Amino acid sequence: MNNGIFETDRHGWAELLPPRQATAPLRGEHRADWAVVGAGVTGLAAARRLAESRPDQEIALLDAREVGQGASGRNSGYAVAVSHFGGGFSRKDIDEYRRVNRINQAGLTLLRERVEADNLACQWREQGFYHAAADSRAQAECRYFCEYLSALDIAHTPLSSNELAARLGTNTYQSGVHVDQGALVQPAALVRGLADTLPANARLHENSPVTRLDHGTPLRLVTPEGTLLADNVLLATNFEAPKLGFLARRLSASTLTGSFTRVLSQEERTSLGSLSDWGVLSLHSGGATVRLTVDGRISLRNTAEYNGGQLLSDAQLKQRQETHRESFERRFPHLAHVPFEFAWSGVEGISRNGTNFFSKAAKNVFIAGGYNGSGVSRGTAFGHALADYARGADSDLVRDCLACAPASWIPPRPLVNIGAYFTVKKRFIGVGLDR
Ligand SMILES: Cc1cc2nc3c(=O)[nH]c(=O)nc-3n(C[C@H](O)[C@H](O)[C@H](O)COP(=O)(O)OP(=O)(O)OC[C@H]3O[C@@H](n4cnc5c(N)ncnc54)[C@H](O)[C@@H]3O)c2cc1C
Repeated sequence: MNNGIFETDRHGWAELLPPRQATAPLRGEHRADWAVVGAGVTGLAAARRLAESRPDQEIALLDAREVGQGASGRNSGYAVAVSHFGGGFSRKDIDEYRRVNRINQAGLTLLRERVEADNLACQWREQGFYHAAADSRAQAECRYFCEYLSALDIAHTPLSSNELAARLGTNTYQSGVHVDQGALVQPAALVRGLADTLPANARLHENSPVTRLDHGTPLRLVTPEGTLLADNVLLATNFEAPKLGFLARRLSASTLTGSFTRVLSQEERTSLGSLSDWGVLSLHSGGATVRLTVDGRISLRNTAEYNGGQLLSDAQLKQRQETHRESFERRFPHLAHVPFEFAWSGVEGISRNGTNFFSKAAKNVFIAGGYNGSGVSRGTAFGHALADYARGADSDLVRDCLACAPASWIPPRPLVNIGAYFTVKKRFIGVGLDR
């Protein structure tokens, strides 16, 4: 993971959008009050918060890639308000459940406010999601999940197999629950929109990998074509923080893949039940995430693996697409004739014990990230809170973020690879028909 290479490809949700001109890379010598590294949801929220709370200061936001090509533009598009904690409902953990959900909800609110204020064209649909179970393990999770939702007084509707079939057009699921809170979004359109509407004192430089961070006053960030001196640095670099010397033994990476069908015909869409669009999260941690998007495609993600923090090659994607295909045809046999248009992969930061990262990492350096596959709303909240924390402002949200459990230690190579391999593999135990 420390190779200093920031690979990208043209297989993301960004490819479904019109072409966009990237902002200019950092060239020459620059000075800013704040540097934010990483323009995913975390960095975008941090840069905005800093720019708005310090209107007289300059914020430079640097990203190694183009906006939309990190995990924030490659995810499945669920902005979660209510987390599912697998493995059984535990009354003694209620405070922790509430803490995490407060963070999720803060992020969801921040995103909604931005989408509405700037009228972002990102297919934002805030009507909750389905959590569904096909096989026995997931059905047990469904019972635990309903218990948890009731105990926390979270609005939800348990659904039978027939009710799910009528809404989603598949007989796969034996039980499920609709949770009212949560939004679905076109993730690349969302981050592009957030980037293109930043306040004027936040300057974005894409294709500007920070290859070195020299500590001192000011801090010095080096990119291939430029140098930036900054008083404070916020790292929103997801799983790539170790490339700059942070969290090497705490943060690992998981590479996930999914596929999209072509746009379905009206007749095909009608065969999918009563709703115009929906999203299903599996109640098994290794189960498929399936969406009918607003523009009429089915997207399905069902693989995760350790690949050294890299995207998958075209050949690997082709192989994973067979798993997507199998899962798609099992759910929608009447749509077996519908081809996939393409497959994509994305890399997410994970910790061994499922915690997230939010801290001061060094003098005037702050870091947030590692959301274990659930970072759209949480990352937004973390970014916003990190900006507040770094400028010395206190809030309930900052305190909730600071209360993340410490991350478990990850052993050095080659054990790290084996450990990460098993951490990711473990999530598929007993996945059965939920895949
Ligand atoms: C396939 C997939 C599906 C997912 N589905 C969901 C979902 O449905 N819902 C959900 O909540 N979460 C989901 N996630 C997780 C979610 O996408 C992430 O948790 C979230 O986007 C992380 O945001 P971030 O801003 O921290 O990181 P990123 O979006 O990865 O942004 C980090 C940015 O930092 C840049 N960077 C890194 N190092 C440097 C450097 N040295 N110099 C300059 N720039 C640098 C990168 O280029 C990148 O753009 C999914 C993830 C994947 C991969």
